[in-house]
Amino acid sequence: GWLDGYVALVTGGASGIGRAVVKRFIAEGCTGVGVMVRSAEQVDGLVAEFGDKVVVSVGDVRSPADNVAAVEATVARFGKLDTLVGNAGVWDFFARLEKMSTEQVAESFDEIFGVNVKGYVLAASAAAPHLRASGGSMIFTLSNSAFYAGGGGPLYVASKHAGVGLIKQLAYEFAPDVRVNGVAPGGTVTPLRGPASLGKQEKRLSEIPGFEDSVANAMPLKFIAQPEDHTGHYVLLASKANSRATTAAIIQSDGGWEIRPMR
Ligand code: NAD
Repeated sequence: GWLDGYVALVTGGASGIGRAVVKRFIAEGCTGVGVMVRSAEQVDGLVAEFGDKVVVSVGDVRSPADNVAAVEATVARFGKLDTLVGNAGVWDFFARLEKMSTEQVAESFDEIFGVNVKGYVLAASAAAPHLRASGGSMIFTLSNSAFYAGGGGPLYVASKHAGVGLIKQLAYEFAPDVRVNGVAPGGTVTPLRGPASLGKQEKRLSEIPGFEDSVANAMPLKFIAQPEDHTGHYVLLASKANSRATTAAIIQSDGGWEIRPMR
């Protein structure tokens, strides 16, 4: 495989795109994958499926200590770290600014930016020394909302745009030792949840009535993605042999948002 002997860490790896990346990385030859998950209930399913190829850490990506613990558990078990995949995220279910009280805006900002932006920076910080040592790379999951309006509300869209700046600045700071890139999926069938601050922590994107059809119809490529559809991009960007000259790049895997027709 393209990742023979690699060791990776994936945040938000219990479900959706993160879990598909874990599975694909193991299929591509990873010795082991650290998986950071939000709750203890998410551990058993991963261990049942992947056995001793995974080491699972329960934590909150907004916590510095939890990020350090996930990195250390991965390195303690598998001996090094080649690839960090920052992926844990929350969506805002299109929450428009004027539908929220000013107080809710403040709370939701802290929650959404806490997970989607601070979570990525903290993972990068915790993984940095090991990635410098291995000559590895970081890959962050962005979104069509990293480039375009309309895929969420202002808080989610701004948080994903922030990810673009983070990737560029980290790529700049870590060159030439560590490459830093991103994958920007579009609408994908996952259980992506909302923020507790908007009372949407149990609400799942895949449960929105008509969501799959409306995404498929809006996209030039005319289908809604499954998590597996994005995983080849992560493999490519992780692989030193296949993307050695690529840093500060973001691969769009969004069904063609750029070329959406007017009608
Ligand atoms: P998902 O809900 O299956 O995956 C997100 C994971 O992050 C979950 O397993 C969740 O437990 C974890 N998580 C959330 N908050 C956390 C926290 N505070 N600490 C630790 N873990 C936490 O949904 P997904 O769609 O696979 O989301 C993965 C990434 O893909 C996110 O960054 C999301 O913004 C992005 N994305 C998704 C879509 C889509 O349509 N599903 C589109 C574009 C981008």
